Amino acid sequence: MPHSMSFANKARLSAALAVLISLVLPVRALAWQWSGNVISSAGGRRKAVALTFDDGPHPVKTPEILELLSDYGIHATFFVTGDNASRYPEIIQQEIDGGHEIGNHTYSHVFLKKVPFETAKSEICALDDLMLENFEYKPKLLRPPGGLYNDKICRFANDLGYEVVLWSIDTKDWAHTSASEITDTVINNVKNGDIILCHDFVGGASYTAAALRTVIPKLLDMGFEFVTVSELLGTE
Ligand SMILES: [Zn+2]
Repeated sequence: MPHSMSFANKARLSAALAVLISLVLPVRALAWQWSGNVISSAGGRRKAVALTFDDGPHPVKTPEILELLSDYGIHATFFVTGDNASRYPEIIQQEIDGGHEIGNHTYSHVFLKKVPFETAKSEICALDDLMLENFEYKPKLLRPPGGLYNDKICRFANDLGYEVVLWSIDTKDWAHTSASEITDTVINNVKNGDIILCHDFVGGASYTAAALRTVIPKLLDMGFEFVTVSELLGTE
């Protein structure tokens, strides 16, 4: 029977396949969290989540959120733009003094993969320079506006010492989503290591702070801790 494989050979082949599958599976299990160098969740066993706020600071909405976070003694991560950081430097200082993390959301909120690479680089660097020169603060996280990036941008950001961070729960608060919808989205989907996307700068009505008044105590009751993204990733 020259074309049929012996039993021993079949057994060897399935053993080899089992080894191969066991090598490949852990990589695949990580792949949903790590797409290249882009992080959307920390996963893991620690019952902790990170609240993140994009596009600020806003002169009214950000202080309201900061006060709420301080009432609960918790820290969050603010992905700021250079336009707003240069307009409201005192709020950036308040975020730093309050123990919150500041991330890079580009200088003028450009969609990094839709502009020439040179523009993308200078948008990232301009926010980096602003934070270093004015606040002696080096951001370690980049959240690309609109979640739009490509490999070249990620590599550039990594070379500058940045982790590229997206999110695992989107509250869609920028679309004037009601407080009860935001609350339901978070409470019904929350998992260990989640990175929750909110906005502290929304044009027009925003129910983010109103929702957080329910979300924060509920998650605390469920046993979750609130930490910054770097704390969540264990890089701080
Ligand atoms: Zn944004």
